[in-house]
Amino acid sequence: MTISLITGANKGLGFETARRLAGAGHTVYVGARDSSRGQSAAQSIGARFVQLDVTDQESVDAAARAIEQAEGHLDVLVNNAGIGGPYRPAPEIGGTEMRDVFETNVFGVVRVTQAFIPLLERSANPVIVNVGSSIGSKALVMNPDRIESTLPVLAYGASKAALVMVTLQYAKALPSFKINIVEPGFTATDFNAHRGPQTVEEGAEIIVRMANLDRSGPTATFQDRHGTLPW
Ligand code: NAP
Repeated sequence: MTISLITGANKGLGFETARRLAGAGHTVYVGARDSSRGQSAAQSIGARFVQLDVTDQESVDAAARAIEQAEGHLDVLVNNAGIGGPYRPAPEIGGTEMRDVFETNVFGVVRVTQAFIPLLERSANPVIVNVGSSIGSKALVMNPDRIESTLPVLAYGASKAALVMVTLQYAKALPSFKINIVEPGFTATDFNAHRGPQTVEEGAEIIVRMANLDRSGPTATFQDRHGTLPW
């Protein structure tokens, strides 16, 4: 049985990923910072709930202990929890707003990954999927033909660019793991007041595909559901 944990899985892309992995037969842990929302989300898809606030080291450590006690190991970690942060011109953004976004989108991923590496090392096929964004791609943000080049997202863009390097550094350090970063695409969720043209089913497609990699799968790649993205 494949044991999978998805952070921020009480709604949006995380919930859809949890639903699909549970449907594929994984034992799924819905990580959520709010217990009642997390519990009801998990219950609705036959998954388990684990309290997990990625900004809180104690919460992350307690989640790792709970899964270790219940399962002994972890096979798939999906670092999905993320926040958008301010949508204003770069000169208006200060260090506090920047730090808040990094606390969740970057330091949160490191906190969770570090806590779960010992459990993943006990898996026969350890997989990590980091949910990034095309807004973290230098090549796309600098391409005037792309929508990414027009968005005022200093904190979010920088956090997802940092997540690219976090992904690559882990992939290099853990060559027996499959560690990839994905771009779900602009998807209708609370994240963007449901303005994204894609459904959550479409958005979660690449997350689910990379979560299901076998031993022959790639590591250290950046992909959306249509293929490889430029860094
Ligand atoms: P969403 O519907 O707003 O869901 C975000 C999830 O993250 C929620 O479950 C939220 O929990 C959780 N979260 C936020 N801070 C957390 C924390 N400190 N600890 C634990 N969980 C936390 O957004 P989404 O669209 O599904 O986004 C999921 C991921 O996809 C994010 O990393 C985002 O950057 C990325 N992404 C989204 C799009 C898009 O178009 N939607 C495009 C590219 C990338 P609460 O319910 O408690 O707030």
